Order: sequence, then C-alpha cells, then structure tokens
Amino acid sequence: MRVAVVGGGINGVMCAASLGRAGHDVVLLERSTLMSATSSASTKLLHGGLRYLEHGAFRLVREALHERKWWLDQAPGLCHPLQLLLPVWKGQGRSRHLIRAGLWMYDLLAGSARLQPHRWLDRSEALAVLPRLQPDGLVGAFSFWDGQMDDRALGLWAADRARGFGVSIRERSPVERVTLDGVLEGPDLSERFDRIVNCAGPWAEELLRCSGLVPRHTLDLVRGSHLVVRRTIATGVLAQVPGGSRIAFLLPWKGSMLVGTTEVRQGLGDPIACSADEAQYLRQFHDSVMVEPLREEDVTSTFAGVRPLIRSAEDPGRATREYALERHGAVLTVFGGKWTTARALGDLVSARLS
Ligand SMILES: Cc1cc2nc3c(=O)[nH]c(=O)nc-3n(C[C@H](O)[C@H](O)[C@H](O)COP(=O)(O)OP(=O)(O)OC[C@H]3O[C@@H](n4cnc5c(N)ncnc54)[C@H](O)[C@@H]3O)c2cc1C
Repeated sequence: MRVAVVGGGINGVMCAASLGRAGHDVVLLERSTLMSATSSASTKLLHGGLRYLEHGAFRLVREALHERKWWLDQAPGLCHPLQLLLPVWKGQGRSRHLIRAGLWMYDLLAGSARLQPHRWLDRSEALAVLPRLQPDGLVGAFSFWDGQMDDRALGLWAADRARGFGVSIRERSPVERVTLDGVLEGPDLSERFDRIVNCAGPWAEELLRCSGLVPRHTLDLVRGSHLVVRRTIATGVLAQVPGGSRIAFLLPWKGSMLVGTTEVRQGLGDPIACSADEAQYLRQFHDSVMVEPLREEDVTSTFAGVRPLIRSAEDPGRATREYALERHGAVLTVFGGKWTTARALGDLVSARLS
C-alpha cells in the first residue's frame, strides 16, 4: 500500500518505520523539520511513569517499561539508565508505604526489562548521594532506575532507521487537508494515497477539523515547561510539589540540571514558551527539595512543549497518558501517546492498516 504519515515527531517517525518495515511504500510529511515540536521538548525520560500507577494505568506502565528497555538496548549512545531518588520527608507528601508499594509494582511490571531493583536509602545514605537535599525532616529516599535520552538526537536516529526501511521523508511539507478517500492537500501538494496516518500530535484534531471530519476524541493541550540551570546534580530527583499532589523532577542534563515540569492548559494559537509564573513555580519546587535556593541568574534557558493528551479528566495531572486510534475512511488518526511508547504505537498502527 502507499501510505502517507503526517507529522515528523517521534510518533510519526515510529509509525512510518513500522509501516516501512512491513513492506508498505511510505512517505512522511513534516511541515517544519523533524523533531521540532513536542518530541524535543520532553522531560527526556524513557520511563514507565511511576505516578500513572496511582491512576491504575497498569497496561500503559507495563508497555512503557518494556519499551524503555528497547530504546536503551538499540541506541546506547543516545540514552542511558538513570538513577532517580524519591526522598521522603516527615509528614510531607505520599507515605513511605504507598511509595514502596508503587515501586514494588513498578519492578514487577518491568519483569525481565527491569534495570535495577528499587531500594531504600536511609537519611545518611541519601545525603551521601545528594548532599544538597533538604535535610530538615528528611527520613531517607527510595532509589530506582529509569532511562534518560537526548530526545532530539534519538528521534533523528529513529528517522534514519525509518529511512533504512525505505521511508521517504519530506520536511517543510505542510498538509492542509485530508480526505476520506486518501487525498492529501497542501500549498504545493495534491496526492492520493491508499491510507493516511495523521500523527500531527497536538495539531492532529485541528487537521481533522480543517478537513471537515468530526473526531470522537478531543485533545487536551497542556503545556509543560522546563528550566535549564547552571548547577549539577548526581542523580535525578522526583518529588511532590508543595501544596499539591503533583510530582516534578530535577535531572542531570549535559552538565547542567533540568527542572520540570508544569501543567498549563493552552490553546493551539498560544505561544509555546515558559511563562514567568511557570519559571517561578519551578524555582520554588527546586527550593523545596534542595538547599541553596535557585536564583534567576542560575537559569540559562527554558523550553516548553505541549502534551497532546486525550481529554479525560478535569485535572490534567490525572488525564490518561494512553493513546487511541480513530478511523475516518482512509485516514487513521493518532490521539495522545508518550515518547517512550512510540514504537509500540507504530506497530499497532501498522497492524491496523495491514
Ligand atoms: C513537557 C513534556 C514533557 C514530556 N516528557 C516526556 C518524557 O519524559 N517521556 C515520555 O515518554 N514522554 C514525554 N512527554 C510526551 C511526549 O513528548 C509526547 O507525547 C510526544 O513527543 C508526542 O509526539 P508526537 O509525534 O505525537 O507529536 P510532536 O512531536 O508534536 O510531532 C507532531 C509533528 O507534526 C507536525 N505537524 C503538525 N501539523 C502538521 C501538518 N498539518 N502538516 C505537516 N506536519 C504537521 C508538527 O510540526 C510536529 O513536528 C512529554 C511531553 C511534554 C509536553
């Protein structure tokens, strides 16, 4: 079959690769450049998503833990296992028993794809690993492992892999409209395909609506911002943001530290950038976890991306991170999807079309 994939983020690239590997004649069209949107603005974790266990997302977490291992095995130069600490302070945040149960389940769901088992570090062990951790009320910390990636570089590696399966990639090729019988239309384009896969991420719903197609799913567009900070940190840290149940991260990143992320609902036309309020929120989060407060001048840059979440909850933090496929004639649209699970999504799309 001749298949067009719209969108050169990680989901489009992995769908194209899977379809190419299955023997289809695949063209990928990206309106800008590969990995220029959400897929290079992530928290850069190849992870199962420990906190999704609280919402009962066992299928997703299990799949993501196995996919994490696949990426780590395939491209060891562009991603690596990363130790994360989950500190416990007296009378704050989730209880030690709840976290232990979650980590036990996380290890269990990973099965043979487990990196290293979680373990408890007492207060002095935790401070030996991270001497700048807030010591007041610190009981200790759980240590566990996930993956860290250079999302842009790994995405470009995946695109090369797709080319190896015969996929033809056209950058700077915007698609304005798709039709039920497989025609793609753009400024310099009108071409018929047997199937079209709409992987436009945050813009997938808009592309359907501009084409006169009414989607059953609705996207909840939720911006997430990060600070890049002129500090180093030996391991990742995962902690609850004061005054809420949200979790945020401090992560080592190319000799600096990443602080993220936020959850701010936005419209498609709004700028995708870290606001002053978000920067302040992230600095406060840092200061609740580490001694030596973060000053504005410690922040060397910021970046932001928009999560294409399937609308499922009032609180975006509770919204599902699952993906869903929706068919309109020759057009198959991908809603949602994590970076880590892009290969599994690609295989599902390929199986649906074959
Ligand atoms: C702040 C944040 C942190 C995250 N952290 C993680 C993490 O640590 N780990 C993880 O697994 N996941 C993470 N995610 C989720 C993950 O990054 C996204 O789910 C994933 O990158 C989405 O990929 P995508 O290909 O669907 O979308 P995108 O990467 O946005 O790609 C869509 C592409 O489609 C193109 N496009 C749009 N419309 C058209 C059109 N009409 N014609 C042609 N091209 C078009 C766009 O230019 C874009 O390049 C995070 C997301 C955010 C926002």
